[in-house]
Amino acid sequence: TSLVEARDVVLSFGSTPALRGAELSVAQGEIVAVTGPSGSGKSTLLHCLAGILVPDEGEIHYDGRRIDALRETERSALRRDRFGFVFQFGQLVPELTAEENVALPLLLARGRRSTALREARAWFERLGLAGLEGRRSGELSGGQAQRVALARALVAGPRVLFADEPTGALDSLTGEQVMDLLVGSAREQGTTVVLVTHEPRVAAFADREVIVRDGRVTPLSVGRAAS
Ligand code: ADP
Ligand code: ADP
Repeated sequence: TSLVEARDVVLSFGSTPALRGAELSVAQGEIVAVTGPSGSGKSTLLHCLAGILVPDEGEIHYDGRRIDALRETERSALRRDRFGFVFQFGQLVPELTAEENVALPLLLARGRRSTALREARAWFERLGLAGLEGRRSGELSGGQAQRVALARALVAGPRVLFADEPTGALDSLTGEQVMDLLVGSAREQGTTVVLVTHEPRVAAFADREVIVRDGRVTPLSVGRAAS
């Protein structure tokens, strides 16, 4: 049974078709990489699965429930309570320190500042960020900032982590370090991951890879998967 699923999803931006019958089913605890050419519909599919965009046709299911038909307030509560997000750029709030950025989801969900900051700090050790708690985003390297963003995405214990080109702004070594931490933390916590990337080396961290072409999802060819 799947935790997150897109069924025959169609979505256009005006006259531009982005998804034309996309199907994807992700099991609890699975780490799936969504790859494919630029403009093929990868981000749009991720945004649909995460309840950010609503398809024109088709259905999105999360944990046995159809979510595309929910009201925006309900979808936003679901995103806050169950999902974590990592994007390519510009994710940290520049006015806040690194630890305040990480604590943000806890502050939004439950409130208590002292508890939120304590839980946030635990992630600094775990992700090799000890000592950087008080820095602002302008004082962090790209890899450090992305690890802080990863901590923020995971601090509230999401059931699903949605990552859209999380290494896109990093050099390949730094990108692989971030992926190691992302996949390691997800496995430790049993977090399901949907990862959009156009980099084969990043996709290789996943349990399974699918390719989006012209708004449709195809499994990776058996030949390559077996080699
Ligand atoms: P990918 O992530 O594979 O690069 P996207 O899902 O971002 O592809 O985009 C799929 C198609 O939809 C592209 O043709 C893109 O230009 C278009 N598109 C995506 N987002 C928007 C938007 N907000 N407004 C208009 N067109 C969009
Ligand atoms: P990605 O493929 O990683 O999403 P893009 O540069 O394609 O990166 O998209 C970045 C943002 O711009 C997204 O929010 C997307 O929805 C939007 N976007 C993409 N294509 C278009 C477009 N043709 N017109 C308007 N917005 C777009």
